[in-house]
Amino acid sequence: MLEIKVQCDCGQKFKFDVEPAGGRMPFGVNCPVCGADGTSKANEILRRVLPPPVPAGASQPPGPPAPAAAAPPRARITMPNRPAAGSPPAQAQPAEPN
Ligand SMILES: [Zn+2]
Repeated sequence: MLEIKVQCDCGQKFKFDVEPAGGRMPFGVNCPVCGADGTSKANEILRRVLPPPVPAGASQPPGPPAPAAAAPPRARITMPNRPAAGSPPAQAQPAEPN
């Protein structure tokens, strides 16, 4: 659904929602002030706002396919930086004076 804004030759602007059929207006519109036909103006606007038709078979860009080695990066699991169980304490205890 597109919102189309048309300015009539009389200067009146009006807008409406339309679902384009084949890139064109599926119904006619008329200026709410002077009653002039605004369908052709709406069709021009539709031609500007709609993307150009893509020829069949042109969706794939030319070029070699991506190598299989270019896999997406995996999430790296990191272990928390802490000493393993049973390791000596980081601070050396001073020897007891006798
Ligand atoms: Zn008008």
